[in-house]
Amino acid sequence: MTTVGILGGGQLARMMALAGAPLGLRFLVLDSTADACAAQFAPMLQADYRDEAALAEFARRIDVATFDFENVPAESAQWLADHVPVFPNPRALAVAQDRLAEKTLFRELDIPVPEFATIDTRGELDAAIARVGTPCILKTRRLGYDGKGQFRIKSPADADAAWAALGPQAARVGLILEGFVAFQRELSVVAVRGRDGELRAWPLTENWHVDGILSASLAPAVADESLQAQALDAARRVAEALDYVGVFALELFLHDGVLVANEMAPRVHNSGHWTIEGAETSQFQNHLRAVLGLPLGAVRPVGHSCMLNWIGEMPPAAAVLAEPGGHWHDYGKSPRVGRKVGHATLRAETTAGLADALERVGKALGREAQVAPVIARLR
Ligand code: ATP
Ligand code: MG
Ligand code: MG
Repeated sequence: MTTVGILGGGQLARMMALAGAPLGLRFLVLDSTADACAAQFAPMLQADYRDEAALAEFARRIDVATFDFENVPAESAQWLADHVPVFPNPRALAVAQDRLAEKTLFRELDIPVPEFATIDTRGELDAAIARVGTPCILKTRRLGYDGKGQFRIKSPADADAAWAALGPQAARVGLILEGFVAFQRELSVVAVRGRDGELRAWPLTENWHVDGILSASLAPAVADESLQAQALDAARRVAEALDYVGVFALELFLHDGVLVANEMAPRVHNSGHWTIEGAETSQFQNHLRAVLGLPLGAVRPVGHSCMLNWIGEMPPAAAVLAEPGGHWHDYGKSPRVGRKVGHATLRAETTAGLADALERVGKALGREAQVAPVIARLR
């Protein structure tokens, strides 16, 4: 009996546990909170990630460890890796935790990135704005997610407001200034690399964000072969440079035909949730296969899929369940503003069929605005 340890017990761990059940896997989740939503499907150890006694017990009870949460302290990941196999490796995790290290790596690998500058003091901000140009975005280097820890700078006059918002965090999490990319589209590539180095990538996915949070994903993206090849090439270079094992995502901006890298997620990714129903093998199943050294599953799409995120609270399920290609995922979380509480995936054989399904669901749920950009892309 193989037990997979997961650091972090959110919806990603929950969906991993569900995907691992047919493989006969057991799971153990380490999370610092009592109400982790993976706990419904996996035994839990509730402790701080820095608690060495808890890490020791965790290591003793598992065969391999992986992550649902990328911000596990790097020292904890390293401690664990000294006692049990950990995938992805702690160095890959550390690079992906820090926007500066991540962008520096992308640049070394000749992957296009926005202009960027690291900042430690208020004095450095003005010079950085002058160098990067406006508009630009001040971001925390570490611990940001769902657009938190970001301040958009339209002109140099916004520097004081930006510093007031994020300056107090500079010493703790670091700051980076990034040029604003006037992208035409946002895309992501979700890929998996096995222990033997084999790399597979699902088709490019197009993503729409609202208030910095993923709202909808369409896969396969309406994109030509050359874009797909550019994305796969970038994913391969990153994965090989980090000796990465498992699933990861690269978030990309499409700007004048070029894919500019925004960030990487060293884990299964929200823009890959459609693979549960929309691909031969889901990102969750392939992540488990990768970390266990099993053969990887095929990543080919099955039809056309759109994933809709439910943020804050769950809508009623009936309209999605009534669709022939409708699939519902309720993470079992209590409602809270800005919280990802579930998602739906609509799948159809044709793009026209998917657009029709989105139109029906958008109307039934009063979420026309959420589905509109996807329908516009499909028609
Ligand atoms: P996630 O939940 O994806 O980890 P995050 O907090 O790490 O989010 P980012 O991915 O950096 O945040 O930014 C969130 C969104 O804000 C992006 O998907 C994009 O829509 C927009 N954005 C971020 N950086 C830039 C940029 N340099 N130029 C243009 N838009 C940007
Ligand atoms: Mg991020
Ligand atoms: Mg992001």
